[in-house]
Amino acid sequence: MRLSQYFIPTLKETPKDAVLKSHQLLVRAGYIHQVGSGIYHFLPLGKLVLDKICAIIKNEMQKAGAIELSLGFVTPASLWQQTGRFEKYGKELLSFKDRKENDFVLSPTCEESITDLVKQFIKSYKNLPKNFYHINLKFRDEVRPRFGLMRGREFVMKDAYSFHDSDEDLQREFLNMQQVYCNILSHLGLDFRVVEADSGAIGGSGSKEFMVLADSGEDTIAICNSCSYAANLEAARRKKREGKINPPKAKLAKFPTPNVKKTEEVAEFFKVDSFYILKAVVKKVVFATQMHREPELAYFFIRGDDELEDTKALNALNAQKLGAIELIDASVEEIRSVGLYEGFIGPYALKNITGSDLIYFDLDLEEESNLICGGNEPDSHFVGVDLSEFEGLTYVDLACVREGDLCPECAGVISHKKGIEVGHIFKLGTRYSEALDAHFLDHNGKSKPFIMGCYGIGVSRLMPAILEQKADELGCVWGEAIAPFDVILLPSNLKDERQRNFSDHLYDELSAKGFNVLYDDRSERFGFKMKDFELVGVSYGVVIGNALEDGEVEIIRRNGMKKITTKSETKAIIEAIEFLGGDQ
Ligand code: ATP
Ligand code: MG
Repeated sequence: MRLSQYFIPTLKETPKDAVLKSHQLLVRAGYIHQVGSGIYHFLPLGKLVLDKICAIIKNEMQKAGAIELSLGFVTPASLWQQTGRFEKYGKELLSFKDRKENDFVLSPTCEESITDLVKQFIKSYKNLPKNFYHINLKFRDEVRPRFGLMRGREFVMKDAYSFHDSDEDLQREFLNMQQVYCNILSHLGLDFRVVEADSGAIGGSGSKEFMVLADSGEDTIAICNSCSYAANLEAARRKKREGKINPPKAKLAKFPTPNVKKTEEVAEFFKVDSFYILKAVVKKVVFATQMHREPELAYFFIRGDDELEDTKALNALNAQKLGAIELIDASVEEIRSVGLYEGFIGPYALKNITGSDLIYFDLDLEEESNLICGGNEPDSHFVGVDLSEFEGLTYVDLACVREGDLCPECAGVISHKKGIEVGHIFKLGTRYSEALDAHFLDHNGKSKPFIMGCYGIGVSRLMPAILEQKADELGCVWGEAIAPFDVILLPSNLKDERQRNFSDHLYDELSAKGFNVLYDDRSERFGFKMKDFELVGVSYGVVIGNALEDGEVEIIRRNGMKKITTKSETKAIIEAIEFLGGDQ
């Protein structure tokens, strides 16, 4: 490709709203252009990289036996109503009516569509298993679209859906896909972790996320320093915490604690470690509309030095099929309106006072004693609290795993790392097939719902994820598998006939050898061309300058900007590129 005839609209200025380097670079280097909030055009370079990522994904999916198709982007809302997700998915689901007043959604994911399709064509266990995938647009009306392609509203996803006649076969395919995802991310040259994850709005029994490690990542993952345990903080587990020395042993008694409200103040007042304080976190729960339930307060008890993990809290409610969709911090007025006093909330008579069943205790508190809690009246706390004396408490995992907590698998030490979620695989079970009445006949002739798995990769998110990990201060670094071009020819002075003829010739020869060559044939200064090479991140540059008179050119590898001089013969240039390529 001759650059003078191509389209790479690079910018000198960094866009104002772009905080992440990947967002800045993709815009400045002419890969993407924003059309609206969270909506981007892929410019020619962006399309090249996207296609290369897609090709790697397709190749691995195909090898693993998955079948490519392409489901419609616009989906009748009736399918989403049948699974209950039309309500449950919330505002991220963009829906609209056509001219005949029929409701539609723009697919944020396609479980409903594929299940409905399979239901119509697959009737027997003999035609199972099947794994269908497609790579196409998704739309999610994100509350805060940001970071460019990282969190768009319209984005490209590879999503696959598998159908099985047994849990064992689903497990086999889940592991198969886990391996495929690892292969894809390795091909892309990424440093990543496979982590235990929460299943979110998609639901199901088990799920794993694929996290590209990067300080700018929005997710926090808990990683064990001595075994392979890794989990998204939303789903991370830990070994039950050991008691501290000098527990505040006392008989149950109520103490006046005037104006002592915050955990630290209570710990200071009683001179105890906040580990022994029973902290109450009160949230207002918003329910899905089809639950026909007004928002109401829920009470979560954790240790004073722990924090509530909101996703776990929401899961605790939904384990009881309550259809909770959001948790909001309760205000002082809301707390007072149920007869409680902020800073003085405890489990004693809580159910009687509030009339609420939504009371949960963190697993770490199970049967624990020597605790201090609020007295459920102003300015008072109980000491000597023993939870084993209560009946019927609901213990669930609620606390956020902290750095220094112990691994649930091996008791090694947990630390936190930041990651970008680029993939997520789920065991769905029969969640969708039952709702959509999608059955097959098993080998005994009995009708059963399909057992399903689903597997997503954020294809467009991979572009910024790669840059967050690999780009340097000069610009984009992609890795050879996906850089938009393999080689860029950088003649320093095209008015020099020798340089021009040589460049024309080399362009033809390298292209004929199968290299994707970009030829910077613009009459710009050499320094300007170099800057564009660095910014765009073509894998190798060939500098054609004055040394050509001595029969030499310079080869630069973009990754690390390593340079070598070589003879100006095509064969020597290719060898130099291969040498630099093998030396990374
Ligand atoms: P997140 O937690 O980042 O919002 P998610 O868990 O909602 O993502 P999934 O439903 O698991 O996303 O979708 C599969 C993959 O699609 C994700 O792993 C991610 O790589 C990608 N993805 C999801 N939302 C977006 C988005 N708004 N923009 C770009 N990619 C996205
Ligand atoms: Mg996810």
